[in-house]
Amino acid sequence: ELTAHPGDLFNIDAALTEEERAIRDTIRRFVDDKILPIIGDCYVQGRFPDELIPELAELGVLGANLPEEYGCAGLSSVAYGLIMQELERGDSGIRSFASVQGALVMYPIFAFGSEAQKRALLPKLAKAELIGCFGLTEPDFGSNPSGMITRAREQADGSWIINGAKMWITNGSKADVAIIWAKTGDSTEDSSIRGFVVPTDTPGFQARDQKGKLSLRASDTSELVLVDVHVPADAILPNSKGLKSPLMCLTQARYGISWGVLGAAMACFEEATSYSKSRVMFDRPIGGFQIQQVRLADMLTEIVKGQLVSLHLGRLKDAGNFTPTQVSLAKRNNVDIATNIARETRRLLGGNGILAEYAAMRHMANLESVYTYEGTHDVHSLILGQAITGLNAFK
Ligand code: FAD
Repeated sequence: ELTAHPGDLFNIDAALTEEERAIRDTIRRFVDDKILPIIGDCYVQGRFPDELIPELAELGVLGANLPEEYGCAGLSSVAYGLIMQELERGDSGIRSFASVQGALVMYPIFAFGSEAQKRALLPKLAKAELIGCFGLTEPDFGSNPSGMITRAREQADGSWIINGAKMWITNGSKADVAIIWAKTGDSTEDSSIRGFVVPTDTPGFQARDQKGKLSLRASDTSELVLVDVHVPADAILPNSKGLKSPLMCLTQARYGISWGVLGAAMACFEEATSYSKSRVMFDRPIGGFQIQQVRLADMLTEIVKGQLVSLHLGRLKDAGNFTPTQVSLAKRNNVDIATNIARETRRLLGGNGILAEYAAMRHMANLESVYTYEGTHDVHSLILGQAITGLNAFK
């Protein structure tokens, strides 16, 4: 039964609708045909496969859970999660591209934008006619974005001048528009944080690729510098207010990540399973040794548990009553188990496990970024800790 449905011992397939399975299978075929053959080389070269962007848009994966009236696919949260799972089965960098465009660029425009911004931008972002990035993190303010230094100052005519620097910005150097989070006026209060839609060709806006990454190599990560970037009055996202707004975007993205990393874990589990059956040492397949069987049993157990968490979370989200704390639990757990599964696969593969020809070490290195971004594992521990005890460890 495992051979027919690798990793689906509990027949979670049966809990999906026919449409959800069909969407999952379409993206899986795309990943098998278009991503897996090239991704190892892209990773070694440190290159995001730009040539696949039009197809990703064509498949409707960008902002797939946003409404059709804005040119999006209008899918359920579970279908959206399955798309993230399949993309990350290919590579975390591909899923990161889709997460940023959908959950961190299209979602804030959808949630906090004016009707004119939504109509002008969302259909183009869905078709990848425009690429976006999300600038929240700064060199000195990562886990604590409320300390951000970036400032937007309102001018007499209602326009804004933005100054500041952002770091670790996915898609930053290929973006046409950047969602920039900045404090307004002189206030140091969280509540003055607002979002701005900044065209990246505005004078004073600069994006520089961050070099030397040993993780997420098939993804662009950039540093943004904004020097007197002058944007019109209607660049502000009118309904954004306070740190809560970017955190709402992160909740969307973290939900997708909880599914995505399961894809990376499944890819590793399948690689480990198949390798354990074909690699012969001491005259028998290594999969016949108890140590390797324990490894595989642990992997499958954690994948099944993670799938149930994400599926249930997705159903809660579709019912309109999921909470950020639930998302923290799912992101924290699933990234952690996926990272361990990738590392155990790498080990099971012996020397071959360090080659880009196999997926394990690429996923292992990628997942270290996923462990850190979108709220580090530690930060999610503290969010859960506060929910459990009522005591705030951040202050
Ligand atoms: P720090 O906050 O300096 O943390 C360092 C260590 O301290 C960590 O172990 C952390 O868990 C720990 N720590 C921090 N606070 C506490 C505490 N209160 N208690 C205990 N331990 C603590 N940001 C964006 O805005 N947009 C993007 O598109 C984006 N893409 C990214 C892509 C990549 C590849 C990476 C690596 C990062 C990306 N980020 C992005 C930034 C990411 O969100 C931050 O790296 C993350 O929030 C952590 O911040 P930091 O790196 O400054 O680490």
